[in-house]
Amino acid sequence: MIYYENLKEVNRPFIEELKTSSIDVIASGQYILGERVKQFEEDFSQYHNNISCSGVASGLDAITISLKTCNFPSHSEVIVPSNTYIATILSILQNQLIPVLVEPRLDTYNIDPSKIEENITPRTRAIVPVHLYGKVCEMDFIEAIAQKYNLKVIEDCAQAHGAQYLERKAGTFGDFGAFSFYPTKNLGALGDGGAILAKNKSHDMTIKTLRNYGSHEKYFNKIIGYNSRLDEIQAAFLSVKLKHLNEINNHKKKLASLYHNHLKSDFIKPHISSKNDDVYHIYNIRHPKRDSLKKYLLEHGISTEIHYPIPPHHQEAFKSLTCLKQAYPISEEIHRTTLSLPISFAHTVDDILHTIEVLNKF
Ligand SMILES: *Cc1c(COP(=O)(O)O)cnc(C)c1O
Repeated sequence: MIYYENLKEVNRPFIEELKTSSIDVIASGQYILGERVKQFEEDFSQYHNNISCSGVASGLDAITISLKTCNFPSHSEVIVPSNTYIATILSILQNQLIPVLVEPRLDTYNIDPSKIEENITPRTRAIVPVHLYGKVCEMDFIEAIAQKYNLKVIEDCAQAHGAQYLERKAGTFGDFGAFSFYPTKNLGALGDGGAILAKNKSHDMTIKTLRNYGSHEKYFNKIIGYNSRLDEIQAAFLSVKLKHLNEINNHKKKLASLYHNHLKSDFIKPHISSKNDDVYHIYNIRHPKRDSLKKYLLEHGISTEIHYPIPPHHQEAFKSLTCLKQAYPISEEIHRTTLSLPISFAHTVDDILHTIEVLNKF
């Protein structure tokens, strides 16, 4: 059986290093906001041109706290792609802001920059581009629009650790780069975790205050905050895994090139551009008979996933939101036809060649 994801196998190569670091944390007696979080923040910052970094409790919180830091008036509008993961939209709603869904490009699956301007109103305050599946959005176009209309940019980098566009890493374009370290992500913790890169030092200070009850100094609270801290033990694990991030990404890129070169053309494969260096958090294909393809693969011992089966505007939780009432046909087309193939650090070249062989007989 080739499983879509097997986290035990993904982490096996790092088990000795992870054991050592967990013993260090236990022995340190410091479990919240201690030396390991500080160290990981430095490591992650160094990986991103020394942009200031704050560890938080999750990817959802990373976006939520970035938006909170901007202190927009409630009911301000925030531009977000219509095919994103639910968390991006939740972070906007949790700030009493209004998500304005913009359709993606059907080839890259990322927000279509040419459709952003027509969705900007006097109440628009920010754009949250999502680097879906490990491909960075067309940030040069997005930055130009943000500058023209004086909008903040919060990049959702949950699927794009180390991905590049025009030789620049995800998270280094916007005012904020929000990351998730959910265990399946390219840089995955052994539990929940997240981080925010903030270019502006005063934003970074606000984030560090917000994540800790709004307290800048113990028992002194200037603002209303959260409890959203990255755990010491997860920070220690993440410093170990960050050292291997390029190796993890390179492995996934190698597997992606096998799919790209050998899958027959019946399947719509991910777009490739010389501007992008993709890290393939997800390798998706599209096919009109997606559901029977998924079933066929499972019958042949290959499990797959769908990212995502239901578009945000069709989620029951959002059914009373009038802001999501438009038609989003491109998003629906993607949700109807997309299928994610095995591409983890634990998969071998043989696993992928076998998957390709089975796929090409469909
Ligand atoms: C995983 C993910 C998130 C949320 O991250 P969590 O750590 O699970 O809260 C947000 N946006 C995208 C695009 C994601 O893939």
